[in-house]
This record gives sequence, C-alpha cells and structure tokens, in this order.
Amino acid sequence: MTTTHDPAVVDDQDRDFLHLCVDLAREAVENGDQPFGSLLVDATGAIRYRERNRVNTGDATRHPEFEIARFAAASLPADERASCVVYTSGEHCPMCSAAHAMAGLGSIVFASSSEQLRGWRREWGFRDPGPLAPLGISAVAPGIPVAGPEPSLCGEIRALHARTLGISDTAD
Ligand SMILES: [Zn+2]
Repeated sequence: MTTTHDPAVVDDQDRDFLHLCVDLAREAVENGDQPFGSLLVDATGAIRYRERNRVNTGDATRHPEFEIARFAAASLPADERASCVVYTSGEHCPMCSAAHAMAGLGSIVFASSSEQLRGWRREWGFRDPGPLAPLGISAVAPGIPVAGPEPSLCGEIRALHARTLGISDTAD
C-alpha cells in the first residue's frame, strides 16, 4: 500500500500510527521514563523504526525523535528519508526538530503539541521553563510539513504526563 499523505491533515492511517506512538509513550512510563514515543514510517506505510523516551539512562538527548533522525541518517538514502513521515506522541522539541530537518526527513505528525504540554504543566504548578526556548517545529524547521495535534489522543497523553509527574488529574 502506498500512502497518499496530505501533511496538513490527520487521517485514519495517521491516527493508527499515532495510537502506536501513545503505546510507546505508555511503555516509557511503565519503564520509569517520560511519556514520549515515535515511529519512522516510509512512503509504503512500513514502520522502519520505533523508539520511546530513554532519558532515564541519564542521557537527556535520548528522545525518540532524535534517535529516529540518527537511525535515518545512518541507514536510509536521502531520497528515502525525504519521503518518510515521523509520527510522535508529543511534538518535537527544538533539539529533535533540528535533528529531523538536518537528517533530511519528511513531514511530522504529532498527537499533542508542546504548547499543550506546557499548559498542562503550568496547570499542575510546574513553572520550570526547561533548558530550551519554547519553539515549535515550524519555528525551528520551517520547511517541514507538520500536522497535529490529534484531539482524540490528547486526553490519554495528558493522563500519562500526569502519572509521570505524580499528579492526580481529574480531566479526561
Ligand atoms: Zn526532543
């Protein structure tokens, strides 16, 4: 099957891939890590790489999207990289947006945005801005087509973040 992916629209196939990303995010939480999971999908719709957050190794660069960029740069020819889509449970951080663009990957579909995550954290009383400027994918890598968030998955992702932070969250 060949995908005819319109990068601006989250379609049913995209949602299926995003569900798998949320499963990876849940797996990360169950292994004591932060809830992020991502897939690299090629132009035929085949999953070429899947990864979850592994920052509890002590290496804060072990984001799944960064691992995907490195895998793609090492393993796929440039034309194939450009036709790949990266699906991810949470929008790329600035580090991963840069790695994605520098690896020459194609579009990105995310289930929840960085802005949503910042909002949830503020709501829960976390004011630490983190080490990076709050730049979305399009601010860091303006040439990358982006779709998201996908509202049907945001409640589940919010719940995973709450669980990670030890928050008793009543929103769905
Ligand atoms: Zn990242």
